[in-house]
Amino acid sequence: MTYCFFCGKDLRRGGDFVRNTEGMLLCKSCVSTAMDIFKRKDASEKGYARETEEDIPGKVNLSKIVNEFTPKKIYDALSEYVIGQETAKKVISLAVYNHYKILSLINETDVEFEKSNILLLGPTGSGKTLIARTLSKILQVPFAIGDCTSFTEAGYVGDDVENVLLSLLINANYEVEEAQKGIVYLDEIDKKTKTSNNVSISRDVSGEGVQQSLLKMIEGTIANVPLAGGRKNPTSQQVVKMDTRHILFICGGAFVGLEKIIEKRCKDGSLIGFNHDPQSKNNADYSYFHKVEAEDLMEYGFIPEFIGRLPIKVALNGLGKEDYLRILKEPKNAIVRQYSKLCEMDGCELIFKDSGLEKVVDTAMEKKTGARGLRAVFERILRNDMFSLREDKLKSIVVDDEYVTKQLEKTEEDFNRELAKSKNN
Ligand code: ADP
Repeated sequence: MTYCFFCGKDLRRGGDFVRNTEGMLLCKSCVSTAMDIFKRKDASEKGYARETEEDIPGKVNLSKIVNEFTPKKIYDALSEYVIGQETAKKVISLAVYNHYKILSLINETDVEFEKSNILLLGPTGSGKTLIARTLSKILQVPFAIGDCTSFTEAGYVGDDVENVLLSLLINANYEVEEAQKGIVYLDEIDKKTKTSNNVSISRDVSGEGVQQSLLKMIEGTIANVPLAGGRKNPTSQQVVKMDTRHILFICGGAFVGLEKIIEKRCKDGSLIGFNHDPQSKNNADYSYFHKVEAEDLMEYGFIPEFIGRLPIKVALNGLGKEDYLRILKEPKNAIVRQYSKLCEMDGCELIFKDSGLEKVVDTAMEKKTGARGLRAVFERILRNDMFSLREDKLKSIVVDDEYVTKQLEKTEEDFNRELAKSKNN
């Protein structure tokens, strides 16, 4: 037997397990989940149980979310990590607050509520995933990210949409009830448009079929989640039933070319052409995204039912130089803070000059990958000195324009040469 007896995970692909005398396997994740369950049981039996069942770590505490948070508090907490994007942060904070308020009411009212799934439109690296992930961290609810480019229609090679539910379940420590109250971020949703309305051959041929499967999941269905996950698996495998009615789905995409559709509609009748040329991504006028209507998304290639299930549409702005500089310094987990701490532990102070940070930002902006480029530049400029910080007993490094330029000019050979030099010392 090569599968975990409990969850069905295929252990041939690796992972720790225990085996009993009959050859049955139990994977590490199931062992630790079982231990958690016993610990909780022990705690409650010994009388030091927490006040309520819902206070147990890993449990979604709806009353705590509703009582301790307000939309403003969620917004403030988001702002500790997400720079700019003020409108988006406000709209999303309210939507998420209302979502959990509704969940907390479900058994107490006969008012019927509709779920408010969210669509985020904005350039790559502008903070879409960051917002979704940070929300789940603030509210302490299970979270999973699904990459829509990997999803294909049933019968095709690729991932089933249910795989994202498996990630959510794993994130909820296999507690189905908790996973059902989590947040799922569906990235690159714009890559699943119908083929008929777009001219790009890079789009997935099964766009509409995938939209139909996603639609079912988003609006609420009892999904069969294959516990072994992975790619399409025709063999029968263990499945868990998950009710997706109360999962909050946040869909995000860069929607290259959509701004032209919106612009055309706004300027009604003018002759602005529409194309999906990826080059236009760099110069796109994202301010049009704030005016997006369902009809624009339909023209872009979404089926109306799908758009109908995403009633909250929020546009994120392209980030400017000032935003990038703030992102380097201000968030709780700001890159500048992280690297300063790392070097401080090796007895070296990093002294950042404005000119240095501006050079980092300019270099990252050239890459056109949004704010995610900042870390890569930082890694590049500091790797040489950080590698031998303790051996070289460097007390401080001044990161100014000159230092950044010098480090960026260094080639792989320079790096290796310096490495050899530090070995000889
Ligand atoms: P996308 O919009 O493509 O989903 P991400 O949210 O994944 O982009 O952003 C990539 C990285 O860039 C984040 O992990 C974060 O470090 C940084 N980043 C992007 N936008 C922001 C922002 N508005 N505030 C702070 N950091 C940001």
